[in-house]
Amino acid sequence: MPLSDIQDRIAKEEARMDRAPGSAQLIAVSKVQPLERVVAVLQEGHRVFGENKVQEAAGKWPDLKAQFDGVELHLIGPLQTNKTRQAMGLFDVIHSVDRPKLARTIARIAEEEGHCPRLFIQVNTGEEDQKAGVLSDELDDLVALCRALNLPVEGLMCIPPSGEEPSLHFALLAKLAKQHGFDGLSMGMSGDFERAIAQGATYVRVGSAIFGERDYG
Ligand SMILES: *Cc1c(COP(=O)(O)O)cnc(C)c1O
Repeated sequence: MPLSDIQDRIAKEEARMDRAPGSAQLIAVSKVQPLERVVAVLQEGHRVFGENKVQEAAGKWPDLKAQFDGVELHLIGPLQTNKTRQAMGLFDVIHSVDRPKLARTIARIAEEEGHCPRLFIQVNTGEEDQKAGVLSDELDDLVALCRALNLPVEGLMCIPPSGEEPSLHFALLAKLAKQHGFDGLSMGMSGDFERAIAQGATYVRVGSAIFGERDYG
């Protein structure tokens, strides 16, 4: 689907919910996509992109950033502690802060480098064993730690379990964000971004609806 169609659908949902135009930002998720598709979206003028792996992003974005001004890059996948410094050099926003050790590592490197990306805390709203994210009942402690470390956390992120109604998870995430005084909500993907906007998403992460199916072969 053309980028402009996705942008229209976002604008319509913002209007339907009486939200300000642009209050839900589109992250174009370019992981695994052929470079020419990514370049095409850059050439259309879009600048906000998401990747889920540090290594993959490091392989393509330094070149693309040299060719196109004003790129804003978001890490939306899990972050291993030993890749934190590299991720902090590459990404403008990290959506996957989910444990005390990672928060402490980010704070230490931010102090050394004099720079910290904007941050979201990922919440495992479905309490799935295999999924990244802090459990809801451990969120209080992680938020308190991030605040004590002066980390620039601006919101919460979730990936609802497949096969469940995502709106319930979006509503839960919105409630948790409100409880903790956060304005940012990173939620909604190709199949459910309108429902996420209805529940207050400030960032939607849309990949295959823009670029086509990912070919992992
Ligand atoms: C891949 C991915 C997306 C985009 O998924 P689509 O269904 O292709 O829109 C969004 N969020 C995260 C965390 C992802 O890993």
